[in-house]
Amino acid sequence: MIYLIARALLVGIGYYIFATLGATYTVVDVGISVLWPANAVLLAAFLIFPPRQWPLMALMTLGAEVLVGLSFTPVSASLAFGLINIFEVTLAAWLIRRSTAGEFDFDRVASATRFLVFGPVLASCLAGLLGAWVYVWLGQDISGYWSLWRLWWFGDALGLLLMTPLLVALWRFMGRGMPAFRPWRLLELGTLWGALLLVAPVAFRDWSGDAFDFNLTPIVILPLGIWAAIRFGVLVTVTTLVVIATLAIRYLVNEVYPIGSSSPQEAVWAVQEFLAIVAIVSVGLSVLLAEIRQQNAGLEKRIQERTSSLAQANAELNATNEWLRSLVSTDFLTGIANRRAFDENGERILQQMKREQSPVSAIMFDLDHFKKINDVLGHDAGDQVLRDIIAPVISVLRPLDLFCRYGGEEFLVLLPGADLNEAAGIAERIRQTIADLEVQYKEEVVRVTVSLGAAEWDGVQHLDELVHAADKALYAAKHSGRNCVRLTDNGIIHSSALT
Ligand code: GH3
Ligand code: MG
Ligand code: MG
Repeated sequence: MIYLIARALLVGIGYYIFATLGATYTVVDVGISVLWPANAVLLAAFLIFPPRQWPLMALMTLGAEVLVGLSFTPVSASLAFGLINIFEVTLAAWLIRRSTAGEFDFDRVASATRFLVFGPVLASCLAGLLGAWVYVWLGQDISGYWSLWRLWWFGDALGLLLMTPLLVALWRFMGRGMPAFRPWRLLELGTLWGALLLVAPVAFRDWSGDAFDFNLTPIVILPLGIWAAIRFGVLVTVTTLVVIATLAIRYLVNEVYPIGSSSPQEAVWAVQEFLAIVAIVSVGLSVLLAEIRQQNAGLEKRIQERTSSLAQANAELNATNEWLRSLVSTDFLTGIANRRAFDENGERILQQMKREQSPVSAIMFDLDHFKKINDVLGHDAGDQVLRDIIAPVISVLRPLDLFCRYGGEEFLVLLPGADLNEAAGIAERIRQTIADLEVQYKEEVVRVTVSLGAAEWDGVQHLDELVHAADKALYAAKHSGRNCVRLTDNGIIHSSALT
């Protein structure tokens, strides 16, 4: 509650200061301001804070209005002016908030456009109708109702146009904290404002009756507003405009009337129009650029998110592919290569060995009387045996040897770099290691033997011809009583190493 009162009090004080400024710097006899910045304090507060806090703030501004008016106008007139200003701000704030669904911020074109239409254009215009009427009622209608209306409208409109974005942007800026200190940006800002101070005397000078055959108008300042809009954000642009407005009003108050104006009233109108044009162009541009920057940043973020999610999906796909590849090339029961993987890799190994002029041999082996194990102990026991012979066989092989389950209880080994003698040695070690193996199945110890056939590649055979040759030797081993190795050499079966 105390917080709310303090906030409302702050709005009242802000209003008081800005109203004093507005009331002090008047040019026209009746005392209507060139620029009335006070309403912007209330409008900024109404745009930032929720409507239930509005009444207290309005009350404070009414008090401030009466205080400021004490030395200028009767209290009844001050009250009338205060009420008109509160009406103007409430109408503008209500319409802006309603049409932007509470999403108001000056760095969006939609918000800024609604602000312009409902605030400076509509609400100020309506308030001008009422304000001019009060002046008429006060008997100060020297310049006529409609010219008073126009002065009031433009003064209020400019005040709102310049100060509301500044105050809202300042509030948001404070909420975001200080940006990083960048010396070059500060230097550029210093150059911009320095240029403004240099150009202003030339721009606002009264050129009428000059020897030159042209009128230099304040519009030469417009590029500086555009500079601010392009290079800096909304906040700096609006601040620059406030500086421009302050300079313009200072020249007016010191009776320097630009644009060939002959009367104070004409000069005020001209300066008001000039400020309105510069403000709408510069602030409009800065808002547009801010929105484009935000959209770009949003787009970039979305692209990044999409890219990373695509990369992740790709990685998952690769992993799945890898898994599928291993699935189709692996034997389900034993985990070693299957026949498909053997066929795929075998031919490649043959060609590679041919290039290297190295020998290649193949061993085929088959479990002896395996059917009996299945019949006596069951299929599970058979499976157990098939699984358990794998590790001992691998321990006999070399890393590059290709070991696969060729089907049922038949296995094949391709031995790159091994001639028939070496293959015979490896086959014998396989036979021995399996013969020594004790497979534990439940309470049973199962022993198996294998018969093996080996053949060496002749350098021209297809892979299946080499396999067939090894199979032929295996067949011979079976017929020789099993649990033994037979070799094929040029179609002739041998029972042991050839040397
Ligand atoms: P031989 O000494 O002549 O090779 O006799 P064998 O009994 O081993 O040969 P046969 O070809 O008659 O029987 C092979 C058996 O292997 C038949 C089949 O049920 C069995 N078998 C094939 N694949 C599997 C398997 O994955 N698991 C189990 N448990 N048995 C299998
Ligand atoms: Mg068998
Ligand atoms: Mg068999």
